[in-house]
Amino acid sequence: MVNHKISEYLKDYLIIGHGLAGAVLSQQLLEKQQQITVLDLPTSNHSSSVAAGLYNPVTGRKMVKTWMADELFPVIEPFYRQLEQHLNSSFLLDIGIYRPFVSFEEQNDWDAKQSDDKYTPFIKSIRKKNLDSVSLHDPFGGIHLNHAGFVKIPQLLRASRAALIQAHVCEEKYFDQSQLKIKSDHITYENIAYRRLIFCNGIEALQTELFGWLPMHPVKGEILKAKMGKKITTILNRGVFILPLDHEHVRIGSNYQNHFDNILPTEKGKEEILQRLNGVLNEPVTIVDSTAGVRPATKDRRPIIGKHPEYEHIYIFNGFGSKGVSLIPYFSKQFMTYLETENGLIHDVNVSRYYKAYNSR
Ligand SMILES: Cc1cc2nc3c(=O)[nH]c(=O)nc-3n(C[C@H](O)[C@H](O)[C@H](O)COP(=O)(O)OP(=O)(O)OC[C@H]3O[C@@H](n4cnc5c(N)ncnc54)[C@H](O)[C@@H]3O)c2cc1C
Repeated sequence: MVNHKISEYLKDYLIIGHGLAGAVLSQQLLEKQQQITVLDLPTSNHSSSVAAGLYNPVTGRKMVKTWMADELFPVIEPFYRQLEQHLNSSFLLDIGIYRPFVSFEEQNDWDAKQSDDKYTPFIKSIRKKNLDSVSLHDPFGGIHLNHAGFVKIPQLLRASRAALIQAHVCEEKYFDQSQLKIKSDHITYENIAYRRLIFCNGIEALQTELFGWLPMHPVKGEILKAKMGKKITTILNRGVFILPLDHEHVRIGSNYQNHFDNILPTEKGKEEILQRLNGVLNEPVTIVDSTAGVRPATKDRRPIIGKHPEYEHIYIFNGFGSKGVSLIPYFSKQFMTYLETENGLIHDVNVSRYYKAYNSR
C-alpha cells in the first residue's frame, strides 16, 4: 500500500534513457495517460543515434529466419506506421531487402521454400539472374525479402523528444544515482516521488549499482556513409548492408568488435567493411563519413526485461543488441502488459533468468 501523504504527489514512472527503447516505451505510457518523466543525456554515439535501423527476417551466412520471426515481424511495420501517425513524422522505409545467393544450391533451396508456409510470408520474389539496376556479384540471382526495411531512428527520436517536450515530461540531464532514494513502495528522485522507475539506459546499465551485475556484452560497430553513382531503391545485404539514404548517398555497414578501447571510428573498421563491400558490390563508392557506437547486447543475445530481483518497483527494458528495431515493438507491448498485470513476459527475455547471478554476486 502506498503511503497516503506521498500518493498525493506521486507520479507514475521515472524513465532513464531516450534511445529507441525509452522513446517507444514513454510514448506507450503517455498514451495510457500515465504521468511520466524521462531523463536523457543524448550522447553522440549511443546505440540508437548510430544504428542503421534495419529489420531483416532472414539473417546470417546460412540465411535462416531470425529468432521469433513469425511473432515479431508481422508487428513491425504496423507498429512504426502507427507511431509515425501519432508523432506526425515519417521514419519507416519498408523498402525490402535483396540478398544475393552464393550458389545454385542456395537458389534451389529458396525456390523450394516458396511453397513452404513457414517461409512464404517473408519471400517477395526469387530472382534467378543478376539484378539489372546495380552491378553486384550475384550470378545466381537472389531473394527479395518481405517484412524488411529500415527505420530512421534519429528522426523517430527527434519526433518523440518533441512530443515529450510539448507534454513537459522530458529533461535533458544525467540521471545521478546518488540522488535516488529507494523506499519500500516507491522511489524519490530529486525530491519527486514516483511509483516506478524504469531503466532504458542501454549499455550504461553496466555502470549502475542496480543493474550492473547483469551479463551485458557491449559490441562496438561502425558504419560508413558514401556517395554512390547508382541509385538503389531497396536494401542490398549479404555480409554487409548497403541502404539508400538520399538521392546520392548510401550507408554501408557494419562490423562487430567485442574488444575496444574507445567508441571512435577506426581505419581498421573502415577497411574491414570495405573489404566485405567489395565481395558484393561492383560499383565505385566514395566514403564521406564514418560513425561508431556500442550495441547493448547480452551474453545470450536476448533482451533483458522485467523487475529488479530485490525492488518490486524498479524495472529494466534493455539488451536489444543489434536488433532493437525488430524486437522493441513486440516486447514493448509484452512489457506494458507485464507492468499492468505482472504477467505476459516470456521467460527467454525475463530478467528473472539472471536472478541467480544477483544472489551470488
Ligand atoms: C553500428 C551499429 C549499427 C546498428 N544497426 C542496427 C540495425 O540495423 N538494426 C537494429 O535493429 N539495430 C541496430 N543497432 C542496434 C540498435 O542501435 C539498438 O538495438 C537500439 O538502438 C538500442 O536502443 P536502447 O534505447 O536500448 O539503447 P541506447 O540507444 O543506447 O539508448 C540509451 C539512452 O540512455 C541514455 N542514458 C544512459 N545512461 C543515462 C543516464 N545516467 N542519464 C541520462 N541518460 C542516460 C543514453 O544517453 C541514451 O540516450 C545498431 C547499433 C550499432 C552500434
